[in-house]
Formats: sequence, C-alpha cells, structure tokens
Amino acid sequence: MKRLILVLCSMIMAAGIAFAGLLAKDKPKVPQMIKVAIVRDSRELDLAIHGSYRIRDLSSGKIIGNGSYLNNCHVRLLDHGILIGLQVLPAKKMLIEPSRDASLIIDERPFRGEVTLIRTPENKITVINDINVEDYIKGVLYREVSSHWPMEALKAQAVAARTYAIYSIHPAGKLYDVTNDIYSQVYGGRGAERYRTDVAVDYTKGEVLTYNHKVIPTYFYATCGGMTEDADELWALSDIPPLRGVPCPFCQGSPHMHWKKNFRLKDIQEILNLHGIKIGRITNITIVDRDRSDRILHLKIAQKNGQDIMIKGKDFRDMMGPNVLLSNNYDIVMKGFYVDIVGKGWGHGVGMCQWGALGMARQQFNYKQILSYYYPQSVLMDYHDFSSK
Ligand SMILES: [Zn+2]
Repeated sequence: MKRLILVLCSMIMAAGIAFAGLLAKDKPKVPQMIKVAIVRDSRELDLAIHGSYRIRDLSSGKIIGNGSYLNNCHVRLLDHGILIGLQVLPAKKMLIEPSRDASLIIDERPFRGEVTLIRTPENKITVINDINVEDYIKGVLYREVSSHWPMEALKAQAVAARTYAIYSIHPAGKLYDVTNDIYSQVYGGRGAERYRTDVAVDYTKGEVLTYNHKVIPTYFYATCGGMTEDADELWALSDIPPLRGVPCPFCQGSPHMHWKKNFRLKDIQEILNLHGIKIGRITNITIVDRDRSDRILHLKIAQKNGQDIMIKGKDFRDMMGPNVLLSNNYDIVMKGFYVDIVGKGWGHGVGMCQWGALGMARQQFNYKQILSYYYPQSVLMDYHDFSSK
C-alpha cells in the first residue's frame, strides 16, 4: 500500500512537472534583449576593453581573438578583415564578449553587454550593442529627463521608455532594433547611468503599458503646451485609445512652454524650395485650420505672383526642422520681410508630456496615475505576462 501511494505520488509529481513544463513551453518567449545600433556606417572607431574578452567569428562560431586587456585602439576595415589595434581579424561579423567585470568602451563611451562589429556591404562598420532591456533603459533615462526629478516622474518615464523599447524589438532577422539617437530613444550607455534613474528602473522592473494585451508605442516628448495630440491626427495610426489627446494643465512651469523664433521670409522660401516646393517671393503666411489640440493642420503661403500654396502644418515643421520649430502649435506675426513664430511646447505632442509628468509628481500623483493620465485606458502589466506585441 505504502508502495502504491509512493508510485501514485511520483506519478502525480511527474504529471505536475510535465504540466508545468508544458505551461513554461507554451508561454511565449518575450524578448528581453534589445539590439541598439551605437555606430552606424562609420569608416573607423576607437575601441578599448578594460578587462578580459573574447572575439568570436559569428559565421563560424570560432573564437578568433582574446586578451586580458585592450588599450584604446583604432578599428578599421582592411581588404582581408577588420583591423583592431595591430591585429587583423578575418571576419565580416564578429562578436566581442567582455568578461562580466570588464568594461567595453567605444569612442570613449562605456557600454554594458556584448557588441557585434559588422562589415556592411558598403564597406563601412556598424556596431550593435546587444543588451538587456533593463540595462538599456538605465542608459536612456538620464538622457531623457533630469535624474533630480521626483521619483514618481522618473518611474513613469522608466515604464514609458521600457514599453517603447519592447515595442521596438523586431522579430529575428533585422540587424538592430533601435538606434541610439533621437530617432529612437537617446541612449548613452553605461556613462549615462545615474543612481536615481537606476532606482526608478529597478523599482518598475518588467512593467510595460498595454492595451488589449498588446504593448503600445508609448511616445513621449518634452512639453505639450496645454493639450496632448491624437496619434491618428499626426501619424494616421489606427485608433489606439491610450494615444488619444488629453488636456494637460501640468506643464505650465516648463521652460519649453513658450518660445519665439524669427525668420527671414527669404530663408523660408529657400527651405521650401530645397524640399521641392516651388515657390517665389513669400508675401504672407497664414494659419488655415487647427486640430482640437490647437496644433496647425494647414498653412497658406502667399507669394508675389498672387498664387497661394497650401501646406500641411506637420510638413512645414519637418521642413523647417523639428528642433527649429519646436512644436506645431504657434501663432504667426508678419513683420515685413520677416516673420515671428510664437509657439507653445516642445515635441510632437503624442503620449506622455515629460514636463507634465513632472508637474503631476510635484502634485503628489504616483507613477501609475501619471501613466494612466497620459495613456488613457492603458493597462500596466509585467512583460513576462502578455502574449505578444
Ligand atoms: Zn503638458
């Protein structure tokens, strides 16, 4: 009898283990590593490794180099391989694997994780940092907001940055997921980590924003100027409730709340011409219509020959430069051969207003309240728990 019970118990345990195994197997694998392009199409770069390392040829899998320390050296392409210091390594794609305590430095910037050096078909060098998402976010946060901001604002930023990163991870096959410039999130590597921003990342570890069990593209920007923008207004994104505009009374104290720029009409004419818009001497610029967040939909530009040109507000901002016309919410004051553009806010306006998040944190809202305010109807989940993007 005792034996039967033992057998039964072990059968139940085995079934339990098998069932648990099945669950683990069935649970979709969520990528926790992200590939960041830290150097793109460069002729050469500087590399140093403070500690031991191995270099692996990714086509053969073989180790083709190793050492206990690498002094800062030039990396460039030769006909028959990649020159690292005095050594020529005959591979087109190689993985540099620093030991756990080693520090890898590229162009004087330290990075965590491993890096892949790639010879592109155009004979340039691209470097990809393969890094854990949590470490990546630590290298992003300080570049996005001040580490002195209240902790709840930093936590909200950590979740938004992590969610955007996870959203950006491509299925296998792509060379990299994100770049390290303003076109993705500004990533500064290990050199951009700070104690308080690291705490915000650790506190919210794994948390992402979802809608209908899918990770959403959590856009953010500096200052909305009073109302955030509908994503479908700006990018014709299919209707995602968390990316609908909301009023924002919280960014009034932002240094980017008000701005003013002055242009020569002749310079605007040249910029438009450069972008393929044929226009002669500009005599007047007027605003035709605005969307519900007050951002400009269309501008009318009058020229000396009497013909008016209509141009979309967002196209005009792109042509002038998004860091020149800081937002698409402004008034126009004509001044003879010149024009004053008097605007509000900085950024595209979709998603979280960073200075608004700061304002909310100062009014004692916590990070979950901040996120659900700027991403209405979104649900905070652990990224291990959602099914797919
Ligand atoms: Zn705002």
